[in-house]
This record gives sequence, C-alpha cells and structure tokens, in this order.
Amino acid sequence: MEYYSNQIQLLIEQLASLPGIGGKTAQRLAFHIIDMPKERVEKLAETILKAKQTIRYCNQCLTLTDQELCPVCRNPSRDQKMIMVVENPRDMSAYEKTGKYEGVYHVLHGAISPMLGIGPADIRLKELMHRLEKEVDEVIIATNSSLEGETTAMYISKLVKPTGIKVSRIASGVPVGGDLEYIDEVTLLRALEGRVEL
Ligand code: ZN
Repeated sequence: MEYYSNQIQLLIEQLASLPGIGGKTAQRLAFHIIDMPKERVEKLAETILKAKQTIRYCNQCLTLTDQELCPVCRNPSRDQKMIMVVENPRDMSAYEKTGKYEGVYHVLHGAISPMLGIGPADIRLKELMHRLEKEVDEVIIATNSSLEGETTAMYISKLVKPTGIKVSRIASGVPVGGDLEYIDEVTLLRALEGRVEL
C-alpha cells in the first residue's frame, strides 16, 4: 500500500480529489510538481491561493469574477434588458465563446433537484426576481436539458410569466442530459436562435 513517503502520498491524494483527475494522473502530476523548480511550485501555489482569495460573485449576474461587476455586466455595449439564465459559470462561458450573444446573464449556481433535496431557495432565484424589478425585455432560460434543468426552467417560467416579461427557452437540439459546456458553438447558437417563447 505505501510505496511512497507520506508527503508524496498526501500530494497524490490531494490531486486525486480534484474532478476529472484519476489516480494515475494524480501520480503523474505529483511527480511532475516535485521535479519542477522551487520557484515555479511557489508561483503555482501562490496563484491558486490568490485566485481563491480574490474571486467572488459578480454583484449583478453572480458569475465568478475578481471585481464588483464581471466584464460582461460592465460592458456598455451589452443589452442589459436581455437576461440569459444559466446553471453555472461554465455554461456562461460556453455561450460567451460563441461571441454572438449580446445580452447579459444570470447564474443560478445549480438547478432544482427534488431527488437531491435541492429546492428553489437553494439556487439564486431570489436574485433573479430582484433583477426583474428593473426594466427587462426578455428572460432566456438556458438551463441544461437534464431533468433538473427542465424542472428549473418550468419553475422559472411560472415565476416570471406574471411579471409580463417575455420568457423563452433555448431550443432543443441540445442533447438530453448534455452539459452545456460540452456542446459545440454551432449547436449552442442554433439553440439560442431557435428559442421558443414559453
Ligand atoms: Zn456579471
């Protein structure tokens, strides 16, 4: 069981606890880090720590940023009256990569899941409703096409409808259960352009 010294084992365990990193990769990374010059290791550790210390939620859309407002919310050429609702910052960056969406976002940080005991109060819906008190033309629901994503979409549309604001849902064509971040830009654009009003 114990092939390596305790410190190496600890490093491998820490790396293996990260998403997408299996035991073998963790081992390779650990040895790579140990072989790196001390200054580079210090730089890496410092960058991780600094990111953790400075990164926060955008005051408006709740994506991750290091300032009060993220670059999208700060950009005067973005349409502040069009809000696309996504589950997480990765989905937002998937849409940003298409370079074609001109509105702003709202990041829920999750989706409603009765199975996992995640209710409407556990995601950032209150903040969304608060934003809708200002002048908004359209809310585009771009949650995933998983069961949780669809449940969340339905819930949001019921909340928004009474306000009279247009609510739409991105078109299907996004594979069922597919995480938005893994879908290519063409498919995302088609889903956005083919959105249907709810
Ligand atoms: Zn923002």
